[in-house]
Amino acid sequence: MNKQRPTHSTLNTFPTRNGELLIGDTPLTRLANRVGQTPFYAYDRQKITERVKHLRKHLPEEIHLHYAIKANPMPAVVQHLSTLVDGFDLASGGEMQVALDTPMPAGHISFAGPGKSESEIRRAIATGVTLNLESETELDTAASQGEQLGIKPRVAVRVNPDFELKSSGMKMGGGPKPFGIDAEHVPAVLTRIGELGCDFQGFHIFSGSQNLHPEAICEAQTKTFELAYRLAENAPSPVHKLNIGGGFGIPYFPGEQALDITLIGGHLNELLQKKSRQLPESKVIVELGRYLVGEAGVYVCRIVDRKISRGQVYLVANGGLHQHLAASGNFGQVIRKNYPVLIGNKMDETEQETVSVVGPSCTPLDLMADKMALAKAGIGDLVVVLQSGAYGLSASPSAFLSHPAAVEVLV
Ligand SMILES: *Cc1c(COP(=O)(O)O)cnc(C)c1O
Repeated sequence: MNKQRPTHSTLNTFPTRNGELLIGDTPLTRLANRVGQTPFYAYDRQKITERVKHLRKHLPEEIHLHYAIKANPMPAVVQHLSTLVDGFDLASGGEMQVALDTPMPAGHISFAGPGKSESEIRRAIATGVTLNLESETELDTAASQGEQLGIKPRVAVRVNPDFELKSSGMKMGGGPKPFGIDAEHVPAVLTRIGELGCDFQGFHIFSGSQNLHPEAICEAQTKTFELAYRLAENAPSPVHKLNIGGGFGIPYFPGEQALDITLIGGHLNELLQKKSRQLPESKVIVELGRYLVGEAGVYVCRIVDRKISRGQVYLVANGGLHQHLAASGNFGQVIRKNYPVLIGNKMDETEQETVSVVGPSCTPLDLMADKMALAKAGIGDLVVVLQSGAYGLSASPSAFLSHPAAVEVLV
C-alpha cells in the first residue's frame, strides 16, 4: 500500500519542544508538576482567543457570537470567554450561576433546554435572562412566575424546525423532537405570548451539532432564515433576536477535515442582506460550544501499568471513561473510533508500538485507544487525549468507581 492514510497526528495543533507537547507554552511534564496530579484537563487560553478571532475575521461583523456553556462550564473558561464573545447560552440554572459570576450582562444571556424547573424559570426572570421556551408549559410557568415577581418575563421561542441539519453528528431538529416547539404550532404560541403580556424577544432555531460540511450548514441557515420570516408574521412584537444555532464541528478522527468557515461567512453575508429588509430590528446570533473550546483542551493521564495479554500490549492509565466518556466512545458514538491520543512526553520517539490504552474502571468500555500506533511508552509516561476541550469532564460519569477527581486548569 503506497497510498498514504490520514492519521491522527495531523490533528495535533500544539507545538512541541524537546520531545514534549507544549500546552500554554509549558512542557507537559512541567505542567503536570504544576498541576500537582494526574489526571487533569488543561485548556489553552490563547487557542480559545485565536478561535474567536478566526470567527470574527470570517463571519460578518454584525453576527453576534454566543458561547453555549454546556460545552465546557469550567468557570475560568467561561470567564475568559466573557471577554471575547457577545453573549452566553445556558442549559441549566447551574450554568446560569457560572455565567452571572462573569461580567456578561444578563441581557446578553439566554436559557434554552427542555425541562426547566419552576425555580430555574423564576431565577432567569429575576435576573433578566431570556427564556428560550421549549413548550407551552414553560410559557405558562414563565407568565405566572413573572406575575408573582412583578417582572415581564423575556421570552423567545425555541422552534423545532420542519427541516434538519444534514450530515450532523447530532440532529436536534426536524421530525419529532424533545427540543423546541414544532414550527407549525409556533403561531398559536406567539399569540398566547402576546395575550400573557410577556416581553417577546425572538426565535431560537437550532438544528444540529458537530457538523463538518459547510454546504449543509449553509443550507440549514437559508432554511432557518426563511422559517423565521414566516413565523415573524405572527409575532406579537418585532423580533429582536434571531438565534440561528451553530453546529460548527471539529475534526476528531483520521480523514476528517477542519470546517471551512469562509464559505459560511460568505453565505451569511448574502442572507443578512435580505434579513435587513425582512427583520430590520433583529440581531442575528450564532451560538457555538464545541467549535470555540474543543480544540483548545487536552486530557492528560499517566500510565500506571503495562501488560501484555496474548500478544496485545495494554497501557493502563490512571484516567479513562469516568473522566472522559467521549474519548471512550460512549458519548453518542455509533461505531467506536479512537480519539486522537498521543504520548505527550515522547513526541520525538521514533519507535512506535501498536497498543491499547485502557483506564482503571473494571469494564471493557473503559478504552481510550484501541490498537493504536503510539510512541513506545511505559509506566510513568503521559497519555494525552487531544480535542478534549468540549464535552469532556462535565459530560462524564465522574462518580463511577469512586476514583479521585480530575483537576481542570486554564493555561
Ligand atoms: C448543545 C447546544 C449547543 C452547542 O453545541 P456545540 O455542538 O457544542 O456547538 C448550542 N445550542 C444548543 C441549543 C445546544 O443544545
